Amino acid sequence: MNATQTFSSVYGPVSSWRYGRSLGIDPIGSISTCSFNCVYCQLGEIEQKTGDRAIYIPTQQILDELEAFAPWDVDVITLSGSGEPTLALNLKEILQGIADCTHRPTLVLTNGTTLGNPEVRNALATADRVSLKLDAVSERRFQGVNRPIDGINLADIWAGIEQFCQDYPGAIGIQTMLLSPWDAQTKADYISRMRSLGVDEIQLNTPTRPKPVNRQLDGRGNHHPQESRPYPVQMLPCLNPEVLQNLAREIAEATGIAVRCAPA
Ligand code: SF4
Repeated sequence: MNATQTFSSVYGPVSSWRYGRSLGIDPIGSISTCSFNCVYCQLGEIEQKTGDRAIYIPTQQILDELEAFAPWDVDVITLSGSGEPTLALNLKEILQGIADCTHRPTLVLTNGTTLGNPEVRNALATADRVSLKLDAVSERRFQGVNRPIDGINLADIWAGIEQFCQDYPGAIGIQTMLLSPWDAQTKADYISRMRSLGVDEIQLNTPTRPKPVNRQLDGRGNHHPQESRPYPVQMLPCLNPEVLQNLAREIAEATGIAVRCAPA
């Protein structure tokens, strides 16, 4: 992290096309930590690549920092931040504490790598909404785009997602990032998987925002694609908005699930 940046576990609110006005909670901390190292990650190259769960930020610190944002005039309070939030061993306690303190809906954005763990599924049941990342339907694309730590494969992630979708009582969204157009086989496979899951919403995105080369704390927030940033960034391949819209329409018609796209 840049030495001039000061860490707070609460940030924003940011304006999200998916969830409205969202206050961010970062249960991970100043060192970016994730079981993936996605090629498009807004945090830059992930600093600590791990699937180990631990208490990264004490729950009380998060709740104390949350107090400064009262009366929490937001649509949702989102756990995301500096990596994979389900790696926080105190996830359930954090979610419960936020709900008790703010009475706002909570949302967790997860890459799905821990969903095979019943403790994680149990903790996530405390959240009002969960958004699951699924960028690939083939192992080859999964390894190329999400670049997981050793030992993580798409079949295990998919099994965790299926199990989670069966048990979870709240609203589930699938978040999919596209860097290039899909061929017919990929489209058919994705549609068939979405049909079988029966989630509430699908969100399609493409990386229009440049990616910071190294870890930047402000990567947790939202930036306009044209906004200049005081650190090195890299442009990524992304999809034409019309292609994305057409794909969204096709998936919605084939699955009956609401599909939303990132604004152009
Ligand atoms: S899962 Fe999220 S935090 Fe982890 S590398 Fe991918 S985009 Fe970044």
